[in-house]
Amino acid sequence: MRAGFPDFRLGNVLATSFTATLTERHGKAVERIPTPHRLVDWLAVNGFAVDSCTTAQLDLARELRESIHTAATAAATRNALPASAVHVINDRSTEGRAAAILTPEGGRQWRLGPASRVEDALSVIAADAISIIAGERDGRLALCASPTCRAAFFDTSRSRTRKWCDMNTCGNRQKKARFTANRRPDPGLRDSPSCPGGMS
Ligand SMILES: [Zn+2]
Repeated sequence: MRAGFPDFRLGNVLATSFTATLTERHGKAVERIPTPHRLVDWLAVNGFAVDSCTTAQLDLARELRESIHTAATAAATRNALPASAVHVINDRSTEGRAAAILTPEGGRQWRLGPASRVEDALSVIAADAISIIAGERDGRLALCASPTCRAAFFDTSRSRTRKWCDMNTCGNRQKKARFTANRRPDPGLRDSPSCPGGMS
């Protein structure tokens, strides 16, 4: 990991882990792939060894990311998929040359095209997004309940009632906010001398 950059938010679903490289879209947004190198890092963590990344390829990745976010949000809210987002996702999906490889241990690896381009990795991410938006996988697309986040996530819980994109961040923050609200002292007691140094 490189110092000085925001950490990655990694989940079990490739497409929504990718859209989570931009967080707090409705608050103080945090860009987690601010440089081409940081995209290379993210791809490496997710099993794609690309050789290099240009600024233009980073732009392509971010365009795909926001298109997945837009389409997944529409799907989660049962709205029509915006044509421009569908177009970008399909373009990225068809332009890559990645192939799924079965390892001797029974795992799946992605083998990128001969040039190991960013575009090859993006095609796998786009195909992953297509599978969840098209409803082909067992789960439900939903939006994070945090008003500053509203990230689309893929709920695979048995009850399909997950509320937050990530329990450790959005879920925890919400819990803390509730806890603080519950512990707020009675306004009538605030100036009471019997409560020195009371909670603020
Ligand atoms: Zn969230």
